[in-house]
Amino acid sequence: MTRQEVSDEFQEKEGPEGIRVVVDRSACIGAADCIAVAPAVFRLDERRRVVLLDPRSVDESTLWRAAERCPTDAIILEDAQGEQLYP
Ligand code: SF4
Repeated sequence: MTRQEVSDEFQEKEGPEGIRVVVDRSACIGAADCIAVAPAVFRLDERRRVVLLDPRSVDESTLWRAAERCPTDAIILEDAQGEQLYP
């Protein structure tokens, strides 16, 4: 069962270099730090929860910077095998 089936609070999409980006919307506090780094990848919905747009539109280092800026570790990076790389 995928995370998506377990909870619609999780969104995940393929990024560059085989990286998978997962956002845990239940952990998001709407701080928008990720959007400051990568506005083409993240936006906030009307409840000020993060929404994943297009992770392939940026390079890998930008995704890392966005994930590292998130104060609640709501942005998770995985490799192509599903191993968690961050946090
Ligand atoms: S930085 Fe984290 S808490 Fe802030 S909007 Fe992005 S995902 Fe949500």
